[in-house]
Amino acid sequence: MNWDAIRGHGERVEWFRRTLRRGRLSHAYVFAGPDGVGKRLFARTLAQCLLCQRHSNEELLACGECSACKQVVKGLHPDLHEVSRKSGKSEFTIDLFLGPPENRGREGLCYDLSRLPMSGDRKIAIIDNAAEMNVEAANAFLKTLEEPSPKALILLIADTLDALLPTIRSRCQTVRFDPLSSRDIAELLVQQELVTEPAEAVALAELSGGSLAVATQLLDPALRELRDALYLQLASDQFQSFALAEKLTSGIEAIGGDTATQRRNTLWLVRFGLEFFRAAALHLSDQPQGAIIPAAVSFARRFEARSPEDFEFVMSLFERVAETEQHIESNVSVSRCLEVLCEDLGRKLSPTRR
Ligand SMILES: [Zn+2]
Repeated sequence: MNWDAIRGHGERVEWFRRTLRRGRLSHAYVFAGPDGVGKRLFARTLAQCLLCQRHSNEELLACGECSACKQVVKGLHPDLHEVSRKSGKSEFTIDLFLGPPENRGREGLCYDLSRLPMSGDRKIAIIDNAAEMNVEAANAFLKTLEEPSPKALILLIADTLDALLPTIRSRCQTVRFDPLSSRDIAELLVQQELVTEPAEAVALAELSGGSLAVATQLLDPALRELRDALYLQLASDQFQSFALAEKLTSGIEAIGGDTATQRRNTLWLVRFGLEFFRAAALHLSDQPQGAIIPAAVSFARRFEARSPEDFEFVMSLFERVAETEQHIESNVSVSRCLEVLCEDLGRKLSPTRR
């Protein structure tokens, strides 16, 4: 774990380095930005650098070899306290901060932070999904934020600043994290061996909105199988709208999850469709860019003349899919959206039309 593993946030590393050189490190920061852009990894790496025994704080580097570095990587450093909501609970409870009722104030994060460091020169807390503190927990934690031990550094992680209680937010300095570039996402997917084919990584990265978490969700094999079924049908010269609608809706149901998850997965399918027609349109206009989708290229080859009308026609398919994207985002029934979309595409793509 070192800064090399972190993409897209070099400016923030430099900012912390300068802050440390000036001796201006604050006692509490909120790392705010979309899920899956590396906020947690950044916080852990920052903690490792501050606890590393071989590098000074001002260097902001971690050797990876000293006992402190090894303990941080294993999650065993006595001065690094990482908390997140307990699994099965929808929010942080006061116990995490003040200990269980029978031992209030003698356990929990606030107690840990009030004590002297055991091996390093500071105590560091990383609080993941900080927006999920309930009011009681936030009030308990507020005391620690208001009167921090001089040896404490608190790093809160949140997807949006708005979700944090104002009392908490106002006592922390904000560090904003932007979405990653598609290129960074594609490289991370290959580097972390999540994807073997670079072209596949590029395609996922472009759909990910700059979030590695989203790109990873898109790796779900069941979702990819549905995408391949969609591409196969779109590229076929005998488009079967009913069969496709059936396949997609039953596939989404089979992947399962709650209504929000099904809506999200349907949205991905629709975006795969958008990518398909976008790739086909770009191929027709001789501007291949981004990910190459072989099925879209074979679809585009149908239009031998490559006339402006052909381009317009492919763009009209793209726009029809884009309408469905909007409908799904505005909460229309997802299965109905897919049915109507497949019907409309079937009509447009029928041999009599072409
Ligand atoms: Zn070290």
